[in-house]
Amino acid sequence: MVDAPRTGDPRPGLSAVPADELVAWLAARGEPAYRARQLEQAVWAGAAMSAADLTTLPRPLAAAIEEAFRWSTVVDEAIVASDGGQTEKALHRLSDGLTIESVLMHYPARSGRKARHTLCISSQGGCAVGCPFCATGELGFERDLETAEILDQVRSAIARLESGVRLTNVVFMGMGEPLLNLDRVLEAVAALNDPARLGLGARHITVSTSGVVPGIRRLTALGPQFTLAISLHAARNALRDVLVPLNRRWPVEEVVAAAREHARATGRRISYEMTMIGGVNDTDDDADAVAELLRGDLAHVNLIPMNSVAHTPWQASPMPVIERFAARIEGAGIPVTIRRNRGVEIGAACGQLAAERAGAPPIPAVALRRSRLEAASARALRGERSDEPVPAGIVR
Ligand code: SAH
Ligand code: SF4
Repeated sequence: MVDAPRTGDPRPGLSAVPADELVAWLAARGEPAYRARQLEQAVWAGAAMSAADLTTLPRPLAAAIEEAFRWSTVVDEAIVASDGGQTEKALHRLSDGLTIESVLMHYPARSGRKARHTLCISSQGGCAVGCPFCATGELGFERDLETAEILDQVRSAIARLESGVRLTNVVFMGMGEPLLNLDRVLEAVAALNDPARLGLGARHITVSTSGVVPGIRRLTALGPQFTLAISLHAARNALRDVLVPLNRRWPVEEVVAAAREHARATGRRISYEMTMIGGVNDTDDDADAVAELLRGDLAHVNLIPMNSVAHTPWQASPMPVIERFAARIEGAGIPVTIRRNRGVEIGAACGQLAAERAGAPPIPAVALRRSRLEAASARALRGERSDEPVPAGIVR
């Protein structure tokens, strides 16, 4: 197992303990290896709330398991539904009091397509990248999540699914930058893949990054593990410096070059995400810059209207503007889809609920932040590069 970050409870989370370690732990207590399989099944089945619930286990063994491991590393503090129950946001409390979130989205079957049940999970508490349109970015970085804390968001969702319904997709698009916690994200993906645990195919897992180039290269060396999504938001450096501050460290051409190499080496199409912000990144020039950047690539572009966040002066681009943007990119031969943002009324975009709980900053600070952003985006639209530094905590 990868070393865990410091949390409030020293006991390892059971979901992240590898099978061989579990077998060894059981053997040291004179227990047969099949108990490990029995435990693993119970951990992923979703019904039991603790080892004590497992009637198949001898009582002293259940007690020893409780003492040595945490059955779950997350406590569901709030579950909020929207879209008529089709979207469900969970606020999870961790052992050190930190809160993170996940979002479960149900898509009904339609025209030959099976129903999908997609879970969006977090990889870090807060985020160091600091994209100004993102509520998680506004929180700043808190800490990396342990592997079990990543996996237990998935188990929490499984426990809430109706009987007979299975998760079909897991996306790392919640709080945090997965490629800045890559060891644990990879360990979590391996567990999600493992037929003895969740058994979700690599094609049904998506990891989204704001463009951590060394992380993308590392993934390329490993071969296809999941679908890679790149949060593009702007093809021009001046604007991307403002929207994705990590761009000051790894400019957009480097990100796209690494992604292109990933697509070539793995044969898997890259998904580019764009949060559409009215009057900021939705102009014809921006669309043409995206088309120019990605022309001929094994790529697909997803346009998502921005969810409003209190600390920004921005709103989503109007739908006709997004449609026009899509048509320009499609005209250049790049496949594009427009995605409706789910759970708008419960703030289900990246980190919003957790940010609300963390407390809104005082009004003058918000006003100052907004006017700074307006000035920065206006400079960027004139093509001037930012002289702001790379966010702290990115290069490590
Ligand atoms: N840090 C990674 C993954 C988590 S963010 C990344 O940035 O890719 C997941 C997605 O949510 C990103 O594509 C991000 O751009 C999007 N997002 C963040 N804030 C949003 C908002 N206010 N409205 C719409 N999408 C948002
Ligand atoms: Fe971090 Fe992603 Fe939010 Fe940017 S959009 S601040 S990278 S979580």
